[in-house]
Amino acid sequence: MSTPGPDTESIAEPVVRLRGVEQRFAGGVTALAALDLDVRPGEWLSLLGPSGCGKSTALRLIAGLARPTAGSVERRLQGTHGVGGIGGVGDIGFVFQEPTLMPWATVEGNVALPLQILGTPRAEIRTRVGELIERVGLAGFERARPRELSGGMKMRVSIARALAAAPRLLLLDEPFAALDEITRARLNDDLLALWQAQGLTVVYVTHSVWESVYLSTRIAILSSRPGRVVGEVKVDAPAPRGADFRDSTAYLHLCRQVSEMLAEAMR
Ligand code: ADP
Ligand code: MG
Repeated sequence: MSTPGPDTESIAEPVVRLRGVEQRFAGGVTALAALDLDVRPGEWLSLLGPSGCGKSTALRLIAGLARPTAGSVERRLQGTHGVGGIGGVGDIGFVFQEPTLMPWATVEGNVALPLQILGTPRAEIRTRVGELIERVGLAGFERARPRELSGGMKMRVSIARALAAAPRLLLLDEPFAALDEITRARLNDDLLALWQAQGLTVVYVTHSVWESVYLSTRIAILSSRPGRVVGEVKVDAPAPRGADFRDSTAYLHLCRQVSEMLAEAMR
């Protein structure tokens, strides 16, 4: 059994560093205030907080899809494609709550899109897209259109698309919130396996205590709006995680600890 992610937490430079971040929107809402957060290489960091506390805003800032009104966001991702982009064009892959697929394109076409934007040669796209579809468990559905797929399958396409450009950092914004519990558990396990196999760094937004403890190596608990980090919990359980972990006393204990911190954060 291996330990999740490389054991570099304390020594390696963060891949993203937020300092004193504030995000105020026109109209007067301050979504984030004084947010300090590091994303470390190889970790699975979950952002857990009440609805409306600024989790999606924080993720967009990490991705470079928005700029903070105060404070700094530094990214250190020395990849080949540069930073930014939606759905996996670049060193950051982004999975939104809605799968946001092109309805007229096939599964293959949707997964290929970021590679086409990057100008990847055709033959290479074909190979890579085939591998990705296989890896997310959609072999046989290459030619299907989004309307022919279940919610869970659409989310798998969305994940494959986000992974297409081989990002170092994968950001997911409550990706499974709309799915039934069994599908959700299966996708969680598949995503964990991908994270492990690919040496990815993951930032995962959720409001589920159970899910955050099951998936993460570290959980940052955010206060009610304006969001800032009010607590942190490390989850040391080894990978691969599964039913043994979910049924363990350690898991229950961590869930209780995180729940209490979240309740405190919402006060
Ligand atoms: P969460 O993802 O934690 O539910 P969000 O980051 O989506 O929270 O939103 C935090 C707050 O900022 C909410 O009150 C939301 O209404 C507000 N907000 C988010 N985006 C915008 C925007 N583009 N313009 C104005 N207000 C926004
Ligand atoms: Mg959100």
